[in-house]
Amino acid sequence: MMGGPGARVRAWAEIDLGALRANVAALRAKAPGAAFMAVVKADAYGHGMVPCARAALEAGAQWLGVATPDEALALRAAGVGGRVLCWLWTPGGPWRECVEADVEVTVSASWALTEVTAAARAAGRTARVQLKIDAGLGRNGAQPAEWPALTRAARAAERDGLIKVTGVWAHFSCADEPGHPAIDRELEVFRRAVAQAEDAGLTPEVRHIANSPGTLTLPESHFDLVRPGVAMYGISPVPQVGGPADFGLRPVMTLRARLASVKRVPGGHGVSYGHHYVTPGDTTLALVPVGYADGVPRHASSAGPVLVAGKWRTVAGRVAMDQFVVDLGGDAAVAGDEAVLFGPGDAGEPTAEDWARACGTIAYEIVTRIGPRVPRVYVDGRP
Ligand SMILES: *Cc1c(COP(=O)(O)O)cnc(C)c1O
Repeated sequence: MMGGPGARVRAWAEIDLGALRANVAALRAKAPGAAFMAVVKADAYGHGMVPCARAALEAGAQWLGVATPDEALALRAAGVGGRVLCWLWTPGGPWRECVEADVEVTVSASWALTEVTAAARAAGRTARVQLKIDAGLGRNGAQPAEWPALTRAARAAERDGLIKVTGVWAHFSCADEPGHPAIDRELEVFRRAVAQAEDAGLTPEVRHIANSPGTLTLPESHFDLVRPGVAMYGISPVPQVGGPADFGLRPVMTLRARLASVKRVPGGHGVSYGHHYVTPGDTTLALVPVGYADGVPRHASSAGPVLVAGKWRTVAGRVAMDQFVVDLGGDAAVAGDEAVLFGPGDAGEPTAEDWARACGTIAYEIVTRIGPRVPRVYVDGRP
């Protein structure tokens, strides 16, 4: 949706593509020698994959990164250009569709190499493949013991013209804790894996390991390409070190809703399921029409902050599926007034980081959970 949301919209997530472009520029300046892969998986962390991918490319990203092959194919189906890498495969996945759509695929194990070479043969095209090493995270990626065999098999498939290995990469386990001993250990495993791949005769165009915290805090992790996700959306990946502004970033998403009801109630009135909040005296209750079906965590019950009628309020009692209540005390508001759950924070509203702290999670989860029932409204700069 472009432009204003219209009075009939109950709640909306305003996505500031100007802020996203500026964030890409700020991150590129931190890694001037590296190519930039904009990570737009999970619907661009809830911000809308296709508009964010296009904005990132406009701001100079050469690559787009997604988890699943379906996400990669959706980018291509929308006509989005740039190089696209995906990494989360299961056996029988759409290898051939990805090869034909010019999507680069990640191989972490020999079964995946077998499947992608078969797909390349069937498509009559060379598949562009990146090999992933498990440098210590313990998720996907080949174990160091399997790496020499995997790189040799990949080189053999290259000689047969079936694949071209365009990259070698890994993912950090603890980059969001600067100084953690795993960081240097994983960098060392990664360097060794790159050397072994080169010894096997591979000539990867890009070697990469840096996520947002790596991009911002570990210049030695930049190699040929950086892969920031959350920082591009203006959220600090290391809130204990600094907020977005400390890194030259600005939050991209503002979540707004219109009050569905404002009413006077007497003291002693229970509020929401289970009556975990009871009004302390005569007061005004306002109903905010978003709930856990929209991605507002139920863990925010009696905890989440929201700007209503000029002040921060706290969710009164339980977050329900579609709505929650705030107690305005003696303050005035009317149905239709705006509530701001989170945003950049400079207009007095809470931030996604404030919600994360209130719910015992990370801001990544707060923005990514905002569901499809909430329309995204794209703006450019301050509306
Ligand atoms: C999600 C993801 C990223 C981006 O991580 P951020 O911490 O959001 O920057 C980079 N690489 C891989 C493999 C990922 O899964």
